[in-house]
Amino acid sequence: MRDRSRRKNKGSSVRRRAIVLPDDACPSCGTMMEDKRRKLSLPVNGEEVAVPRAPHLRCPGCDEVVLRFEDARKLQERAIEIYREKYGLLGADEIRALRGRLGLNQGALAQLLRLGKNTISRWEKGRNVQTSAMDVLLRLIRDVPGALEYLRSHAA
Ligand SMILES: [Zn+2]
Repeated sequence: MRDRSRRKNKGSSVRRRAIVLPDDACPSCGTMMEDKRRKLSLPVNGEEVAVPRAPHLRCPGCDEVVLRFEDARKLQERAIEIYREKYGLLGADEIRALRGRLGLNQGALAQLLRLGKNTISRWEKGRNVQTSAMDVLLRLIRDVPGALEYLRSHAA
C-alpha cells in the first residue's frame, strides 16, 4: 500500500540539467536554495560550452541547480558569445550588416541558404548561432563577387 501522506514524486528520475522556477525552494528536496556564480555548461550547436561564473540558484542539500528566467537568458547569450569567439564566427551585428549591404530581408537570406525562416532572426538577436560551415557561406556571399547571384540561380 502506498503511504498517502508522503509527497508524490513528480516527474521521472532522469537528472535534469536545469529547470526554470520563480521560487527559491529546491524542487527536489525543498531546501532553500542559495545564489551562486559557478561554471555551468550549455549545448551550442551540439557542443557543450562552459560558461564561467554563471549566476544561478543551487541547493545546498542536493546540489540541484535552478535557473531563474534571467539566469537562463544570460547563460544562453554568454554561451553563444563564447562559441562565436572560439570559432571566430561573424557576430550578430556583422550578419545584420552584411544582409543589409546585400539588400536582403531575413526571409530572403534564409531561403538562399535553405534555412528555416526564423533562423536569421535568431542569429541576429544572439539567441542562436550559425555553424562554422554556415559562417563560411555567409562570408562567401559577403566577400566574393558573384556568389550571391550563384546562390540565387541555384535556389530551388
Ligand atoms: Zn535540494
